[in-house]
Amino acid sequence: MNLYVKIVTLVLLCTVIGCDAQDSWEKIQSDGELVVVTRNSPTTYYLDKNGPTGFEYALTRLLAEEMGVALKIETASNLNDLFAQLKDQKADIAAAGLTLTEGRAARYPHTIAYNQLTPQVIYVAGTFRPRSVSDLTTMNIAVVAKSSHADTLYTLQQNQAPELRWQEIDEADTMHLLELLKLGQADIAIVDSNEFAVQQSLYPRQKVAFDLHEEQDMVWYLAPEIDNTRLTIFINAYLERLKNNGTMARLREQHFGHTDGVSRISAHVFTQNMRQTLPLYRRLIRQVAKEYQMDWHLLAAIAYQESRWDPNATSPTGVRGMMMLTKPTARELGVENRLDVTQSLRGGARYLKDLKRRLPKRLQEPDRTWMALAAYNIGLGHLEDARVITQRQGGNPDLWQDVMQRLPLLQDSKYYEKTRYGYARGKEAVTLVQNIRHYYNILAWQDIPDNQPIPPLRSEDYIPNEIDNLQLQTF
Ligand code: GLU
Repeated sequence: MNLYVKIVTLVLLCTVIGCDAQDSWEKIQSDGELVVVTRNSPTTYYLDKNGPTGFEYALTRLLAEEMGVALKIETASNLNDLFAQLKDQKADIAAAGLTLTEGRAARYPHTIAYNQLTPQVIYVAGTFRPRSVSDLTTMNIAVVAKSSHADTLYTLQQNQAPELRWQEIDEADTMHLLELLKLGQADIAIVDSNEFAVQQSLYPRQKVAFDLHEEQDMVWYLAPEIDNTRLTIFINAYLERLKNNGTMARLREQHFGHTDGVSRISAHVFTQNMRQTLPLYRRLIRQVAKEYQMDWHLLAAIAYQESRWDPNATSPTGVRGMMMLTKPTARELGVENRLDVTQSLRGGARYLKDLKRRLPKRLQEPDRTWMALAAYNIGLGHLEDARVITQRQGGNPDLWQDVMQRLPLLQDSKYYEKTRYGYARGKEAVTLVQNIRHYYNILAWQDIPDNQPIPPLRSEDYIPNEIDNLQLQTF
């Protein structure tokens, strides 16, 4: 928006709402803090061992920084409470993966869209799979109370399917819906695509039946009955800038990207192993991670990716042990017996640490770790080749998101013939890193008691035979 348009908008808005109303921008500046109300969930805001994190948290923290004020996060236990806090001006903005709906827009000012998500119909594999809205009329549907999805169902009931019925769950986190499905207390849950992708690993039997609606805009809502003119212009320009300079894509990748490419079956096997095998090695993994000053969840995730936590794992190519070290690497690392769990874990941790140290200084975390992991698989030389290709193609060689798109090119003669180190199984390296990121996220999430309102699933309770057979075929 150019300056002229901004001024005209400002004048028009002043005429409509009256410029005597208190100005939210000034209030935030004089309080020295931006108050954001959100939901505690893995896609919005939660605490990990380094403190607060989540997509909405990252976005609003940057915003507060740019406004030169502190960020204060308030959480709401359900959407009713969330909008009540906004209405009572207890918060300046609501940032919680909220869909733009007509009803909300009539009551609350909002920003431009910063993300697009698809509402999905989720069912349990092995039960009846609905394929259209008319199939839903006989089913027990669960949605978050006061959610955009409840609105959508209402519209469908009015216009298309009068028999449609649903239960509204008064919780902020959609994990509760998936839990109902797991317990057999609902047949269907309606959930946004990113939320399902992130939570599915904990509910491996649940699947998307169909999209309830096309993609919808996510927006931030602002407190009503206050002059938001300046604040809205500032936030919209901020969001626009983040979209244009790639920050938005990077944050999206960081918070949701780890779910790409991990199949439902492997997620299912992981959850099962996490409960059965990991407890045998958790103490040791923690101890070794401490020795090498690394996050134990990461070491555990790598060990799982390499050997499924099997200390005796052996591949036909002669790679061995829990961390699957080659003979020369093991020798270099001083590992005498690769089948000794402690030695193997120490070797792997040290190898990763060495690789990280050898990467260019300017690589920032977490990209630095993801690149080191790719190098763990294909070596630093090939990683460097992929970074060179990335740069040549106009990408940023310091961002994992950009490099991971070029790694598979190392398998294509058009590219690898012109690189220094030649052919490499780049695609496999990407899969490995994405899997580790995914496992890491589940382990880290599970390990925070506050994030675990739901008892762990006892997978043996409900794994149907056909999935067990599939697992055997896959692994
Ligand atoms: N996007 C939903 C809303 O705005 C909340 C998330 C969900 O229920 O999946 O109401």
